[in-house]
Amino acid sequence: MRFDVAILGCGAATPTLRYQPTSQILNIGEKWFLLDAGEGVQKSLRSHHVPFQKIERVFISHMHGDHVLGLPGLIGSMNLLGRKKPLGIHGPANLERWLMEGLRLTETHLNFEIQFSANNQDELTPAWAEGEIEVLSAPVNHRIEAYAYRFNWSPRLLNLKKSSLELLNLKRTEIIQLKKGHDVQRTDGSTLKASEHCHPLNPGLSYVFSGDTTPCSMLNALALDADLMYHEATFAEALSLRAKQTGHSTAKQAATTALDANVGALLIGHFSSRYRSLDGLLKEARETFDRVELAEEGKCYPLQTFQPN
Ligand SMILES: [Zn+2]
Ligand SMILES: [Zn+2]
Repeated sequence: MRFDVAILGCGAATPTLRYQPTSQILNIGEKWFLLDAGEGVQKSLRSHHVPFQKIERVFISHMHGDHVLGLPGLIGSMNLLGRKKPLGIHGPANLERWLMEGLRLTETHLNFEIQFSANNQDELTPAWAEGEIEVLSAPVNHRIEAYAYRFNWSPRLLNLKKSSLELLNLKRTEIIQLKKGHDVQRTDGSTLKASEHCHPLNPGLSYVFSGDTTPCSMLNALALDADLMYHEATFAEALSLRAKQTGHSTAKQAATTALDANVGALLIGHFSSRYRSLDGLLKEARETFDRVELAEEGKCYPLQTFQPN
């Protein structure tokens, strides 16, 4: 099962020659989800060879321009390219009004439906679920209404061992029972034990995206035991007061959240353009939590690589 996160943009505030504003694309079992849509998102998606129409849902953290200004253009392109299937969009309550008014004023007449879902402003709640994939949202602490998201992939069926499949001449009904974890009584009186013929249930994978936020208990709860968390780390510790005033985090604060939430690994991003070198941010984060990397724009992170052996 593929569960990949590609960083399309990891800069703060304004696009620079070095970084684009925030957006990420997730591929969970060939289902594509866009996380935030900063300016330049269409070009980045093309660089990653992601067909726009494959994106099933968009999850927006908040309404600041560096997280959302690429969305109207992307939707316009989806329309021009002939999209017919609905697009799910999750985010703050005022996202729908902003987007629909913009599309109306630009005379973008959509040939597909946009299905908006406003996140719960007060609690950590399921935002969407289908099959083995579940997305949770949690309100976080920024200057405006803002959310973090958690993507869980939780397999429900066991995988049959290849040797059993080849040797036992299994019927389809027997395969289904074994994959569900049930033992099978065969007509010859023998019993096939699911524990013997199947691999143990995969514990699944989980990814957390902080959006823009100061440290907050809601994010700690959302991120608990996640395999990987992307956390904004706009500033170094020397600017912790500025981080607080602007509703952002320092690299050390991101690392502290990762430690408290017991995540498997941490990616930091949303870098302020004031830092020519990001080594200082990484060093400050590593003093608190050692499994941390700087997010790299254009890089794809398969979640399996962060899973404990
Ligand atoms: Zn931002
Ligand atoms: Zn913001």
